[in-house]
Amino acid sequence: MRILHDPVVLMYHGFAEAAPDHDPFSLVVTRERLAQQLGVLGRGEHVAVDLDGYLDAVARPRRPRRMLVTIDDGYQSVADIAAPMLAAAGVPALLFVPPGRVGTTSAWMDEFADEAIMDAGTLARMPAFGIEIGCHGWDHAVMVGMSDAELRRNTVEAREALADLTGTPPRTFAYPEGRFDQRALDAVRRAGFEVAFSVHDDAGRFAISRVDVNATDNAATFRLKLFPGYRRLWRLADRASVLRRTVRRVAQHI
Ligand SMILES: [Zn+2]
Repeated sequence: MRILHDPVVLMYHGFAEAAPDHDPFSLVVTRERLAQQLGVLGRGEHVAVDLDGYLDAVARPRRPRRMLVTIDDGYQSVADIAAPMLAAAGVPALLFVPPGRVGTTSAWMDEFADEAIMDAGTLARMPAFGIEIGCHGWDHAVMVGMSDAELRRNTVEAREALADLTGTPPRTFAYPEGRFDQRALDAVRRAGFEVAFSVHDDAGRFAISRVDVNATDNAATFRLKLFPGYRRLWRLADRASVLRRTVRRVAQHI
């Protein structure tokens, strides 16, 4: 069954030394939890790969399973906490950044508006930690229903802006909030990206779904999220709390 061979793509956002008082969307993973999760990855059941390793594993599934870490938005906390930890653990990552927000904050979220986004200098140092920079639209605007000019701004121009900031044109794209329509998908493909990621909805190489790792995850739920087919199972389980509890219980034993 193909879904059992899909490499897992994890999606992180922000990090912190301790759980923040204010985290309305559960975006922040503490240093302690990230260390736990990297420990799980270090057991050898999964091999953390970079983009090339991921694409290779999609074409030729193998054991142990391949796993790709992605991080959205480009928060300063990635540079302060996650990047050195990932590098020390030998875990590469993709970091999706909206170039129009570089050096500012997460002002697109009214309820969580003050989270610092890396400046250009910090961003340019990320590849030294094994982190490849990808594109996250221009300014994190949701791309559903955009005009041609808006789509161009959020794909072609965003790609050029990131190339100017980092010296390398980004190969990858992640839709803000994971949301896209066919026109957005076509614009991303035409802009020269090799692959694009959504959150929930799969639509081929330009909308690959990911598994969200957030503030609510402990070691058990993290292990569950590494389970192949988790994304599909969870969507099914969403409609039945009994099934959801069962999935969770099974996961304790994987
Ligand atoms: Zn985002």
